[in-house]
Amino acid sequence: MTERFDVVVVGAGSAGAVVAARLSETPGRSVLLLEAGPDHDAAHTPPAISGPSFVAAMAEPGRVWPNLMAQRTPAQGERHYVRGRGIGGSSAINAMVALPGEPGDYDAWERDFGCAGWSWADVAPWFERLPVPLRVATPRETGPIARAMLSAEPTAEPAALTRHGDGRRASVNDVYLQPARGRSNLAVRGDALVDRVLFDGHRVAGVVMADGSAVETTTVVVCAGAIHSPAILLRSGVDRPGIGLGLHDHPSFPMAMILHEPPSEPATLVAVSALLRSGYRVHHDLQVLAMDIVDPAMPTLGLLMGAVMQVHSRGEVRLASPDPAVDPIVEFHMLSDERDLVALRAAAALTERLALSESMAAVAVPAPYDTTDVALLAGVGDYVHAAGTCRMGAVSDPLAVVDPHGRLIGYEGLLVCDASVMPAVPRANTHLPTVMIAERIAGMFVAAT
Ligand SMILES: Cc1cc2nc3c(=O)[nH]c(=O)nc-3n(C[C@H](O)[C@H](O)[C@H](O)COP(=O)(O)OP(=O)(O)OC[C@H]3O[C@@H](n4cnc5c(N)ncnc54)[C@H](O)[C@@H]3O)c2cc1C
Repeated sequence: MTERFDVVVVGAGSAGAVVAARLSETPGRSVLLLEAGPDHDAAHTPPAISGPSFVAAMAEPGRVWPNLMAQRTPAQGERHYVRGRGIGGSSAINAMVALPGEPGDYDAWERDFGCAGWSWADVAPWFERLPVPLRVATPRETGPIARAMLSAEPTAEPAALTRHGDGRRASVNDVYLQPARGRSNLAVRGDALVDRVLFDGHRVAGVVMADGSAVETTTVVVCAGAIHSPAILLRSGVDRPGIGLGLHDHPSFPMAMILHEPPSEPATLVAVSALLRSGYRVHHDLQVLAMDIVDPAMPTLGLLMGAVMQVHSRGEVRLASPDPAVDPIVEFHMLSDERDLVALRAAAALTERLALSESMAAVAVPAPYDTTDVALLAGVGDYVHAAGTCRMGAVSDPLAVVDPHGRLIGYEGLLVCDASVMPAVPRANTHLPTVMIAERIAGMFVAAT
């Protein structure tokens, strides 16, 4: 017999875990959370996931999508694109940096993209109320690259990190799902790869799993992230031209730093503990991240990564195959808008200035690097902040995929809620903004039902 739930949430990442936890607060609503990767409760979190190094978290078996490839620019071949898999999604493997973004980012969502109700005045109180604990690294946890950055630049700052008081990672599994797991109306299921959403006309009727089984429901919230949410909609035959378009990420300029000597206590270091935000065209449109752990097998390797935080270029996600086990084609078209190339030059210059500063020279030297345009196009990296592939907007906007309540335009019973709905990625690392989006869309859904 087919199972039935009032709501099925697809994907247990930064958004999906929040949505499932909030919707199951109403005792009469049955909620099923389906996650492609492994599930465990907070007490059984692998030490590599709860520890200080996201590099170790990414190496935990089964916790990233292993075959997902992306092309950043046509001057590059495809390379792996990292997305979290398993309970907590990318929040379980990310670098834990917590920033909300700038007021102008959200004001532009409302003004330029028709996202009524998403101005800074609307979203700021939600950021303030998030129950996510934040904690900066202690001096003992701060590595030489971060320390050198903090002393080289007066505006460099210790990064606020999503961590519990005792230093463990605070993923959405810990913060949101754990307190909800005891509820009889919430079922959490790992190793559950969703193929597609089933429709009766334009109304949701259920979801079909990759193994061919089905779950009946009238409401599906797709929270599979900016790469996999559009793929699910495309496999489901949803007829909306904007799906998969609008893909973007913060372009980056990675500069390897070779330490004069390895850190004395590498196991205690937080991989990313400091960052520099800087203004080029507008406030905080550049960032440089200091990384003290890049590869545990190479303790003298550090990294400075400059990034363009306000992005104009757009790419695309499209299906490679109707098979749910095959990842989609991902093309970012980074730097295709001249403004992003100009800004990346500035990010590279800022990174170079830090790399050659007196404080940095005392601990490390940069590996050979090249800041010519040819090299930038061939070497530009991402910031694992994919966004924009199911973008939110006015119902009258032909390229908007969801309305400002997260509801798929032209359909009934399907919502999309994750980083894919961001019309323009904020000048921030994207976890906290995604949690805010999930809180708001869940709140709107509860208020309307
Ligand atoms: C390595 C790394 C480091 C990062 N560092 C930071 C940082 O320091 N600070 C910050 O703010 N942001 C950071 N980010 C970005 C941030 O974590 C993401 O933007 C955010 O987690 C995205 O949330 P999401 O809900 O959109 O997607 P995710 O958290 O990726 O969740 C999507 C979930 O859906 C599941 N899923 C996908 N397809 C299916 C399917 N067909 N069936 C069932 N389940 C499915 C996935 O397995 C995953 O669990 C980082 C990301 C990565 C990968």
